[in-house]
Amino acid sequence: MKYVILIGDGMSDYPIEELGNKTPLQAAKTPNMDKLVQKGSIGLVRTVPEGFPPGSDVAILSVLGYDPKKYYTGRSPLEAASIGVNLGPHDLALRCNLVTLAERDAKIYMDDFSSDHISTDEAKEIIMDIDKELGENGIRFYPGMSYRHLMVWHGGPDGLETTPPHDISGKEINDYLPKGKGSDKLVQLMNSSQMLLKGHPVNVKREEEGHKPANSIWLWGQGRKPDMPTLKERFGIKGSIISAVDLVKGVGIYGGLNVVNVPGATGYIDTNYKGKAEYALKELEARDFVCVHVEAPDEAGHNGDLKGKIKAIEDFDKEVVGRVVEGLARFKEYRILVMPDHPTPIVKKTHTRDPVPFVFYPNTQNFGAGVYPANEGSGKAFSEADAKASGLFVEEGHRLIERLFER
Ligand SMILES: [Zn+2]
Repeated sequence: MKYVILIGDGMSDYPIEELGNKTPLQAAKTPNMDKLVQKGSIGLVRTVPEGFPPGSDVAILSVLGYDPKKYYTGRSPLEAASIGVNLGPHDLALRCNLVTLAERDAKIYMDDFSSDHISTDEAKEIIMDIDKELGENGIRFYPGMSYRHLMVWHGGPDGLETTPPHDISGKEINDYLPKGKGSDKLVQLMNSSQMLLKGHPVNVKREEEGHKPANSIWLWGQGRKPDMPTLKERFGIKGSIISAVDLVKGVGIYGGLNVVNVPGATGYIDTNYKGKAEYALKELEARDFVCVHVEAPDEAGHNGDLKGKIKAIEDFDKEVVGRVVEGLARFKEYRILVMPDHPTPIVKKTHTRDPVPFVFYPNTQNFGAGVYPANEGSGKAFSEADAKASGLFVEEGHRLIERLFER
């Protein structure tokens, strides 16, 4: 038996007037997902438990079978695993964004949480300098991708309160600086970074080229290493994960999955969908399970880009779902689960905690033990409305994988 999960990040949404009150999933042409719905079972599932921040860190844990209430320790430890930093028991990991702050009338504002999507090479130069100058007393900085980096604080405290910089775009930063035990240290590091980055050669060049400077670090998303059993330990399943996003890869690494890097997989709308599908099928030749994550619909949602979101959903359906299902024909028995992790509604430009639609299809036609009943035509297409109409609701998202793995 082969097992497959395909995740279209942030695909689900709200009805949009411009689309005649359809959602992007309803407006997009998705013949491959619809076919799975017609043969399989569609339902709604809660991937973000009450009280947890709605984001891929929490939701992907659920999708891969880990109860966030038990295993969620923060976003940064997941990203640390992805960039190869092994955290010790006394280490606190923090996301270190390179951001652009702007000063107006003696007030400081969050101008760009991504420093104008700074390149990985430029960012690496800056982070290495920050580590050299500010790394001391158990504090280290590690370069990641683009604006997303890591700080590890050996002996860092519990009880810090921090704010994601993408939640305060355009706002004055004063009210959102770190609070709680140890926050003075973080504020001091952020201030020191501003002195260091003023006139930094990388920034001088960026400004000459018309790009925003990376003029500060922003520390958030703190947490300790989660103690997660692997999927092999839990289910005896050997698998792989394919994603362009560090925190998704990190969940996979803690879950004992093999991380497969696909050339040209960017996380943006120009991502290499076809390559992801082909690599996924190749992984299944040697392993039982593969999970493919596509970030593009989420990015379009954050940008409020309706056309882009519909296109990203259609590309996901055609180039990932279509290709994978077609390729699965070479295996005798398989089970496939297709779903978003969380909604990223166009009108909100950020994640919400609403339950998401999922479709589950075992090609064996055996809807017996451990499998949700087939919808018998109640579901016609992969959409939020059809998922709701099916009456199937899974309250604990981490249980979906138990069904997939026939437990
Ligand atoms: Zn997102």
